[in-house]
Amino acid sequence: MLRVVEFGESDLILHLLTPETSRLTAIARHARRSRKRFAGTLDLFNRLRITAVRRSGSAMARLEQATLVESLAELRRDTARFALGCYLLELLGRLAPEGGARADSRRLFAFTLSALRALDARSPDARLRVLLELRALDALGLRPELEACVRCGGALEGSEEVPFLVAEGGPLCTSCAAAGEDALGIHLGTLRALAVGLRFAPEQLGRVALSGPALREARLLLSRFARFHVGLELQSERFLNEIISSADLPAG
Ligand SMILES: [Zn+2]
Repeated sequence: MLRVVEFGESDLILHLLTPETSRLTAIARHARRSRKRFAGTLDLFNRLRITAVRRSGSAMARLEQATLVESLAELRRDTARFALGCYLLELLGRLAPEGGARADSRRLFAFTLSALRALDARSPDARLRVLLELRALDALGLRPELEACVRCGGALEGSEEVPFLVAEGGPLCTSCAAAGEDALGIHLGTLRALAVGLRFAPEQLGRVALSGPALREARLLLSRFARFHVGLELQSERFLNEIISSADLPAG
């Protein structure tokens, strides 16, 4: 369950992520009036088995049945886990396609489950936040280029810091870099650490070495990159910044 919105007198509109269709919007009629029908199931983060019916031509499915399969209790009890969990759900809710290709939907669903379980298992720090954000973008088909020049495909050599163009999704080599472009300066070591982060499963991300100035660069890069694709600031981002960044990142 990605998002729950109250609708009318007694209904709920639900945004779900499914392994068949990616995002699915469904209405649960009378869900707020009748406590029995969907009792305890229609909450954020819950993994459900559902029956939903969609008439042809209708944008929204109607939820008929929902059974709770997995509830991530620790994720709700801890502020940092909850804040990062909400941020990931909002990112997925904004960027997951409705009716995506089946292979992509399965991959996105599998990523989401393992990311939320990793959060249920341990409280996140700024490093886990950045790496899960990167992995979420990757699972959504929005992986930034981290290893080669985004324009010519050439190797990144020479200077320690390369210009990274958020709008083009990657760094530039010395021959493609032109003065006056609106680029973020990112060290090659930071890009390499992020590339390593793409090779580990969410529960193994604790092994990726990313700290200090590189972590700060990575956080800025991922935040700009996500914002560029979403097109606006996510509601949960400011809260997450208060909970996680201030505790872990040096000022500046
Ligand atoms: Zn180039």
